[in-house]
Amino acid sequence: MSMPPIYDARDPSFSRLVFGNSQLERLWTGARWAEGPVYHPAGKFLLFSDIPNDRVMRYDETDGSVSVFESPCLNSNGHYLDQQGRILRCEHRGRAVSRIGHDGVREVLADSFDGKRLNSPNDVCVHPDGAIWFSDPSYGIDTDYEGDAAESQIGAAHVYRIPPQGGPARAMVTDMVRPNGLAFSPDGRTLYVVDTGITHVLDCRPKIRAYPVPATASRLGEGADFAYCDNGMFDGIRCDTEGRIWAAAGDGVHCYRSDGMLLGKILVPEVCANLCFGGVKRNRMFICGTTSLYAIYVNARGLDLIRRG
Ligand code: MG
Repeated sequence: MSMPPIYDARDPSFSRLVFGNSQLERLWTGARWAEGPVYHPAGKFLLFSDIPNDRVMRYDETDGSVSVFESPCLNSNGHYLDQQGRILRCEHRGRAVSRIGHDGVREVLADSFDGKRLNSPNDVCVHPDGAIWFSDPSYGIDTDYEGDAAESQIGAAHVYRIPPQGGPARAMVTDMVRPNGLAFSPDGRTLYVVDTGITHVLDCRPKIRAYPVPATASRLGEGADFAYCDNGMFDGIRCDTEGRIWAAAGDGVHCYRSDGMLLGKILVPEVCANLCFGGVKRNRMFICGTTSLYAIYVNARGLDLIRRG
C-alpha cells in the first residue's frame, strides 16, 4: 500500500530533504512491535525484529517479499552491521549482544558487566574505530511480553562499549534512566543517545542527549540535552552523512539539524520505534511502525555502511 507522504516542515530547508512525489509505502504489516531494522547491502535485504512474536523478519528488496528470517530469536531487538558486514543484534531474552558470522554461527560479544548479567540490550551501533556500542535498558526483563521477566542484576541501565579488538563491555553512559536508540555523528566525535526513561520515571522528559567522544575514548565528555520529543517518545535514531539526526517518535520520524534544531517530520500513521537507511544509495528510509514496515525515499543518505573501510 502506498500513500502520499505527509510532511510537517518546521524549517524551509526541510523541503530539500524530502520529495513531494515520493510515496510512503507500507511494505508489510502483521507485527506486534516492529523494531531494530538493518539493511544488508550485499544481500539486498532488510532484517527487522517483531519482538513480542519472537521473530526476526526479512524484507527482500529484489522482489518485495517478507518472510521469517529466524524464530524463535531470543526476542531480538536492535540490529546493526559491523565493519565486516556481519550482523550484530541485541537479544532481550539472551540478555546479550551477539554477532552472526558469515558462517551463520552466533557468537556472544557481551552478556555481563562487572560479573552481573546485562538487563536486555536494546540497540547497537558501531563507532568509526570499530568499537561496538549498545544500550541496556530493562524492557526485555520488565515483563514476559518482550523477553523473560527478571530482576535487574546491575540495578541500573547504561550504554556500554565493546572495544574494537573485543573484550569486556565497559559502561560509558551512566546518567540515564533508560538509554535506548543511539548513533554517532559522521566524524564519530559525538554520541547521541535517546532516553525513554519516562516509561519508569514520569518526570523523565523524552529526549536525545549528546555526548562528546574524545579521541582516546576511555570515557565520554559531559552530556547535554540535544532535543526533546514533542510527540510520544524517541526510540531508534540514525544519523545521515550531513550530521542530521533522524529519530523515530510517536507521530513519525523527526529530523534534527546537528545543532538540535527540528527541521521537520515525516508523518507515519503508526507509532514509530526505529528506522534505518538502505537501498543501493542508502537514501531509502525504512521505518518500523508498530505493526508495519514502511519505506520512503528521501534526499539524504544514511551513514550506515558508507563510512566504513
Ligand atoms: Mg529501541
